[in-house]
Amino acid sequence: MSYTEEIYARVVEQNPGEPEFHQAVKEVLDTLKLVIDANEEEYRKLGILERLVEPERIISFRVPWVDDQGKVQINKGYRVQFNSAIGPYKGGLRFHPSVNQSILKFLGFEQVFKNSLTGLPIGGGKGGSNFDPKGKSDREVMAFCQSFMTELHKYIGADQDVPAGDIGVGGREIGYMYGQYKRLTGLYEGVLTGKGLTWGGSLVRTQATGYGLIYILNEMLKEAGKALEGQTVVISGSGNVAIYAAEKAEELGAKVVAMSDSNGYVYDPEGIKLDVVKDIKEVKRGRIKEYAERVDSAVYTEGKGIWTVKCDIALPCATQNELNLEDAKALVANGCFAVAEGANMPTTREATDFIQEQGLMFMPGKASNAGGVATSALEMSQNSARLSWSFEEVDAKLKGIMADIYAKVSDAAKRYGVEGNFVAGANIAGFEKVVDAMKAQGLV
Ligand code: NDP
Repeated sequence: MSYTEEIYARVVEQNPGEPEFHQAVKEVLDTLKLVIDANEEEYRKLGILERLVEPERIISFRVPWVDDQGKVQINKGYRVQFNSAIGPYKGGLRFHPSVNQSILKFLGFEQVFKNSLTGLPIGGGKGGSNFDPKGKSDREVMAFCQSFMTELHKYIGADQDVPAGDIGVGGREIGYMYGQYKRLTGLYEGVLTGKGLTWGGSLVRTQATGYGLIYILNEMLKEAGKALEGQTVVISGSGNVAIYAAEKAEELGAKVVAMSDSNGYVYDPEGIKLDVVKDIKEVKRGRIKEYAERVDSAVYTEGKGIWTVKCDIALPCATQNELNLEDAKALVANGCFAVAEGANMPTTREATDFIQEQGLMFMPGKASNAGGVATSALEMSQNSARLSWSFEEVDAKLKGIMADIYAKVSDAAKRYGVEGNFVAGANIAGFEKVVDAMKAQGLV
């Protein structure tokens, strides 16, 4: 058995019932095989892979709160502090009923490589709760966030662990958690990112993941002699990442024809009107279905199926494993030539393999959605320096970081003889930096 196979078998055995975590580890180890085989003796001796797949720490706790009917509710809370070799733990908090330890470990593991790719000094972590903010009153969300932070604050800090938002955690939730952190510690420090602009937030953070996705997509298209202008794009989701990916794609001349939420999708052949989507999702917290009620040219379809809409470029921006083999076949049959992941691991392994075998360009989330965490790191820099940069300054830095990530990913793939395989390129480039730091810091 090779070293990578041994480690994968060990992960499956020692982390039972955690399929998402197994899936993430397998994808990374498979693509790192080339690098690991070349350094096997040294890595085995140092236990590099054993350490890499084991989180430094997992904190799990009870979150009690009282609902509007006066009833006590209990949720699970977690923070997975995965790897701090290159900086303080950094990664989002997810509030969604599906949250469990497996999902947070997969996200934390991916985050280690993603953060490394940004070139900024941030380690990897992830956290969250099985709390569902949907349908809750503002008071209930505040009560939950305050209780969550009452426990979490013991383990985080501006130089220790800096959480951000993720699914179900936007400006409102970050605000309530920041307020509680400040109240408990007396510190006004950059302990969370995604803060409001009047209290330490960074311009462009809201747009960063979506914009960054389009910036790196543009780099990928450029190297292939193509352009975004005039292309038809399908984007799943209608949350933070999806909305700002659509905004930048439209700004650069593409036409976004479909978007979705967990209930269904809308198809608008005339191009999605983003002001309507923003009003539904950001202001009214409504359902994407309402788009078709407001826009004559649009049709709403209940359920999955967004990937059957004909497009040139597909951008999965909702959640993990939302694009399966069947979906990938539909995309290929309809002439789609590029897929870039806005969400984390939205494409299943079988779908990714198929897409790559069919010769489509494919950019994995750890590279293509890194703009969010990169801009979070820029927020941390501004907080430490007590400065606020302009929109143009932050946007220019983001653009530069995404171009740099593309160059690193493309170059690593070329160096290891797998040109154009950006999944391998992203894993290799992210891994090299983390391992270097782990070796330098000794056995910790
Ligand atoms: P939001 O909560 O703002 O939006 C998520 C969107 O995906 C919503 O439209 C939601 O629909 C939809 N969705 C969620 N779960 C499912 C599901 N099971 N099936 C179908 N649709 C679903 O989250 P974000 O936009 O912030 O995050 C989206 C993805 O991007 C996640 O994978 C996240 O980890 C990743 N990401 C986010 C970053 C950020 O900066 N925000 C940074 C890097 C990655 P509904 O409203 O019906 O639930």
